[in-house]
Amino acid sequence: MVKITRKTLTQKASLRQAVRSNIGKSINLRKIIPHNEKSNLALHSNSNMSNFSEYNIQNIIPNENSSINRDSLSRNNNSFLSQSINNNKSEHNINNNDQEKYFQELNGYENRNIIQEENASTSENEERDYYFQELIDDESNDIGNNDQENYNQRLDEYEDSDEEDISFIFKNKYDGFQNASFYHGEAKPYFPNKSVMLMFIWYTKYMIGTHAYQDLVKILQHPDFCASDLPQSITTLKQMRHNLPLMTLNSHNVKINPMDTPSTSVSVKEGYTFSILDYIQRILNNPSIFPKLYFGPGVKTLEKFELWHGQVWKESPLFGETSHMIKNEFYQAGDFILYNSQEEAGDNQRLGQINGIVIPKENSFEKLLYVQKIMYYSDLPGNVKSSDRYIQSKNKAVWLTENREAINVDCVVVHHVKVWLENLPEPENYDYRIGEILYIHNNRSKIRQIHQQHQLPNQHNFQRLSFPLNLQHLKFFIDLYYDDFGAFGKSYHKLGGIYIQFGNMPLSMRQRLKNHFLIGLIPFGAKFADFIKPFIQQMQILQNGIIMTNYNGDKVIISGGLGMCTADLPQGNDLAGIRRHNADHGCRTCEVTQEDLNNTYFDIQLNGRYCHIMDCYYKEIKQASTKSAKENIAKQHELCLKKNILDNLIRNPYIQVPQDPYHCLAGLVRRLFDETFKSMNDEGHKIFVKIWREFEMPSSWNRLQNPITHRDSYWMNDSLRLTMIMPYILARAINYKHYKTEIVNRVKDEYSLSNRTQVPSIIVDCWVKMAKACKAVFKSTYIVVDEYNDYILLKKRLEQVTEALLKVFRETFSNLPNLHALRHLPEIARNFGTLVNTSVSLKEAVHGLYKRTVLHTNKKDLSMDLSKRDNTLQTLRYLLDGGLDTRYDEINNFFTNFAYDTILHKLLDDWYITENGYITTKNNSEIFSIHPDFQNIRVYGLWKQFKIQEQGLSTTLSTENLLTEITKIYKDVYKNFSAIIQRRVNYYDSIQFTVHLESDVYVNITLRVGEAIDVEVADSHGEQSYALIRAIMIHQDDSGNNNPFLLIDWFYRNGNVDSVLTGFPIYGLQRRDDDSWYHLQPLTIVDRQPRVHFVHKCTNLCSEGFHDKDNEEYILNEFYYTIV
Ligand SMILES: [Zn+2]
Ligand SMILES: [Zn+2]
Repeated sequence: MVKITRKTLTQKASLRQAVRSNIGKSINLRKIIPHNEKSNLALHSNSNMSNFSEYNIQNIIPNENSSINRDSLSRNNNSFLSQSINNNKSEHNINNNDQEKYFQELNGYENRNIIQEENASTSENEERDYYFQELIDDESNDIGNNDQENYNQRLDEYEDSDEEDISFIFKNKYDGFQNASFYHGEAKPYFPNKSVMLMFIWYTKYMIGTHAYQDLVKILQHPDFCASDLPQSITTLKQMRHNLPLMTLNSHNVKINPMDTPSTSVSVKEGYTFSILDYIQRILNNPSIFPKLYFGPGVKTLEKFELWHGQVWKESPLFGETSHMIKNEFYQAGDFILYNSQEEAGDNQRLGQINGIVIPKENSFEKLLYVQKIMYYSDLPGNVKSSDRYIQSKNKAVWLTENREAINVDCVVVHHVKVWLENLPEPENYDYRIGEILYIHNNRSKIRQIHQQHQLPNQHNFQRLSFPLNLQHLKFFIDLYYDDFGAFGKSYHKLGGIYIQFGNMPLSMRQRLKNHFLIGLIPFGAKFADFIKPFIQQMQILQNGIIMTNYNGDKVIISGGLGMCTADLPQGNDLAGIRRHNADHGCRTCEVTQEDLNNTYFDIQLNGRYCHIMDCYYKEIKQASTKSAKENIAKQHELCLKKNILDNLIRNPYIQVPQDPYHCLAGLVRRLFDETFKSMNDEGHKIFVKIWREFEMPSSWNRLQNPITHRDSYWMNDSLRLTMIMPYILARAINYKHYKTEIVNRVKDEYSLSNRTQVPSIIVDCWVKMAKACKAVFKSTYIVVDEYNDYILLKKRLEQVTEALLKVFRETFSNLPNLHALRHLPEIARNFGTLVNTSVSLKEAVHGLYKRTVLHTNKKDLSMDLSKRDNTLQTLRYLLDGGLDTRYDEINNFFTNFAYDTILHKLLDDWYITENGYITTKNNSEIFSIHPDFQNIRVYGLWKQFKIQEQGLSTTLSTENLLTEITKIYKDVYKNFSAIIQRRVNYYDSIQFTVHLESDVYVNITLRVGEAIDVEVADSHGEQSYALIRAIMIHQDDSGNNNPFLLIDWFYRNGNVDSVLTGFPIYGLQRRDDDSWYHLQPLTIVDRQPRVHFVHKCTNLCSEGFHDKDNEEYILNEFYYTIV
């Protein structure tokens, strides 16, 4: 087989020179190996077993007549292998942890260690998974939930049998007398010593979690730890929080609606809130956060991913810049100018309205005017030209468009031009007048009236700041998140939460749980409007600006505004002052009617909700004499009777309360699952589940329950993930016989198909479009270049999926507010840079975290207890960040040093409040790193002999087994030119490590066998290289270093595309006996979490989860993305 792609790549490939210049500069990743040695894959077993690997194997299989190695227990010996195995176990320990919680509940055990629950999982992802699971299961005992499905199956089998059969065979024996050895010490014969015995009893009594135990051991073993210093009472320990520089928790009275609470409740309660101003002061005093914040004008960039890349930031004086001096003349947003367009060549003077001032990239000194284009009559498209407009043009009329461009300040040719916008009073003199807007609807140019547009934010009554000019001015973008009481949970779980984020943080920071700041938890029965009052007052102060001092002692001007409010769909409507979806209509962005909800041609610009128009309606409501008259007007426009209390702040609720893309899409996907499965018959269900079970899922995904029977237990991320593979599963096995006849006939008629066999591909296509839409919506970066525009692509994808859903499952998807909301997503993406920036998925997880803490309180005054706990957590984080305590001139830097104490490293490392901020530079694991940016390497899941054999590998390096390749890596990367004496290697299932990307950015990476990786290869002209991990290998070199390697098979582009289903590119997979490129690579080729997925292009020979080995073709699954 001739592989052209492979050859060209072979010549160019070299180890990521651009990325890590100081390692292996000129090493070829895929250089051709001389074919003088044929590999015959001879197996070498167990030549050189070292002591510690023996210990571990025995630990894994305690039943195998092995004795526990006494030395390793009594010594304080943590070989990396035994650590790995412990960690590996704990990783899959989440259900156990739940069990533990459940028992604690039962025992009424009050003073339990709260810290343990933050540590309950090893990664943020799993932590989140867990919360969602908990929300769904309503913290009921879900032990062994995963087995439920298997259990049901077994039950079915049992019920199927006709006769009672009581015969059985014992399978395994567990517990009982083991072949254990005995100890000789003071705790003989069962324990090596008294300490181990005491800990064993304590652990057994209180069901201590793995992480809690590990952390405690770290503390107890710390050389500075002194047991006699500890207080006897946990109350004394708890009181220590009062010495910390805590924030003030303010309270005010809030009314409690007696309808929502038991009758004995009081009608007024205290509501507790933190001040936004206190948070800002703290951020100014936090040297780990402050320098990373962005304060500046909007940025006009080709790659948009931050909030300041979006239109709201660019055009609002609250966040960006809206005025600029050019040649001693003052220009500001709203002004009209004559300028030379840079978009077209030649002398081309254009009219435009300044919307804001932007810069070409972060921290640039070059200023650009962000201009909304205006057209002369001659430029109008033919279909809107008319004699009437021609006559108007002779009378100074020009047309505003919706296109914007950024122009260099030097392009301004005439200072200002005077333009009369005809919805405003006519000025005495003017150069031009504008009465109409030219816009595109349904791919055609259209005209609407000038008042039908959002006014620029500067046209609000915003007072210009009058502060000393020499001070730095910092503008804060506040993102408010509100989570309602939620549908799940017992009454004491019913806790509304209000959180803020700072839009000035880069996306990577905003995506950390710890960077969601609590304003307060709303007591059950209290109203949002009542509770939020202190926040409104503080935000008004912020809008007007105040002076604060930063951590350098410099005075700075602080101002800011409410940039965005996010919530689930119905609550979001509340925040915008729009009735909820269950009313007749009620889109918060436009005035769509119920009849038009699924009209894809509905003109949303023409019917947009514009503040000045809505204000007129509110005025009408206010002036109406009777209550029913008020309600009629309100209902007519689907407005609430009063504006939302947040409208006391400067904002445009119809833009700045974006519809949440996460709930929106997850809701639609859920319905599509329902419809698809409803359309299938029993045979279809059976085949589907079989194929789903055997499918090559990305190895990082959690195992899910049966999507047909247990779909209700899925949380939104599960549904979105399943969507990424749904087209393939359906295409692999489902034919028209698996669908119900009436569905097949209906779709056949709807699409005028000649044959029923064509029907399944219509349904698959619906899923293809859904998967493509999800991918476009959750893109973390939108690219806009001349010939390519992600916002336009997004719009197209959403239109395609809408059309398909309405055609295939019209009845279900008609009149769905979620489907209509898709129409608004492209505009929301433009306003905030991306839709990820507006998504509430992570914010919801944060609220889940608070709800979960409820179990650890006495449930009497939840909002106070949880707020206080949050205060302690954020204060600890602040001190660990190196924050100032204004009470003391000098503070001991014990706190910051403590964060770098390698012994206690793990105590902070997997705690969300300190995550990823405090990686020590010293290698903390016993696996050697060849590059300083790769740290904390740990391996899990040691392969046993039979698995190594099964994979055609050997524990001994030889000319048949990787010796040539490993020698080359030692030579090229490790600069170790001597011959390899140690021939022993171990293989593992997975490897975890931390990569230091830039100054303070660390990523934790997990790689698993069977997973595809994307590798950056220098000189590959931007084309990604992909490979499949076959094994993770550790080799101990002659100096005793354990070095990590990846054994991989490369994917190569073979020029084909998946023409039947997706149009995605097809790759060939390098055969194991094909040595054209090196299979063995140093770990350092991977510096980010893999984000690719390949699906086998199955043939007739693929079945039962085993794929046709002769077919090396794989489809690059472009539906795949990482859910934030
Ligand atoms: Zn709408
Ligand atoms: Zn296959």
